[in-house]
Amino acid sequence: MKVFLSADMEGTCGVVSWPETERTTPMDYTPIQKQMTREVAAACKGALAAGAEEVFVKDSHDSARNLDPNLLPRDIRINRSWSGDPLSMMSGLNQEKFDAVFFTGYHAWAGCPGNPLSHTMNGMNNHVYLNGVLCSEFLINSYTAGYYSVPVALLTGDAALCDFAKTLIPAITTVPVNVGRGGSTTSIHPDVAVERIEAAAKVAATKASQCQVPMPDHFHMEIDFFKHHVAYSKSFYPGAVLKDDKFVCFDSDDWFEMLRFCHFVLSDA
Ligand SMILES: [Zn+2]
Repeated sequence: MKVFLSADMEGTCGVVSWPETERTTPMDYTPIQKQMTREVAAACKGALAAGAEEVFVKDSHDSARNLDPNLLPRDIRINRSWSGDPLSMMSGLNQEKFDAVFFTGYHAWAGCPGNPLSHTMNGMNNHVYLNGVLCSEFLINSYTAGYYSVPVALLTGDAALCDFAKTLIPAITTVPVNVGRGGSTTSIHPDVAVERIEAAAKVAATKASQCQVPMPDHFHMEIDFFKHHVAYSKSFYPGAVLKDDKFVCFDSDDWFEMLRFCHFVLSDA
């Protein structure tokens, strides 16, 4: 068994503010960066203990240069920085055969009160709707896993996202580490988070075959941009439609075409 692990940061145990996720503010960043690495290491150890031969780790927050590989188990490979392909936080999933996807440090969707850092991809939108559902990076990346027929077996992050994940994939194993309220979070102890993530990863690796992602026949995305002029500019993506001056809409039956749309319309660039 080979596991693909995508590691974000805004759902790491204890994180509550943007400076804690940014390399440019090391006094805030370093403790959360260390905890992020510990959580990824725990998920890898659990998978390996359950019989996985290897875990492919995609560092997928911001610079994608957050994790310290020296602190991860030896039976891993790690992809750092960004190749520039539309798979984004899942880059590498289509390059070889994987048996399970794990998400660590993931966070709630734009507009969700369950995490002070909730957002969906770029910080330029109020909401992203996908087939009428408020859309998280977890949902986008789960459909990418589903597109390549790889089950999504583990999620760690804030409690709001863990609750959502169970509605999409009932058999998924989750480890909620933070509960958001307003601008605050309440977290479990970082050591307890690490212990729970290692144990959950072991369970998730054995249950992966039950965690296939249900793929819709058709995808309709609407992005509610903060600024009308950004929406206007992005609406020139081929096939996109501008609605009510600030929603950019796109339809496709093919998930890869939605990813390509997201790559140009929902990414930071
Ligand atoms: Zn992030």
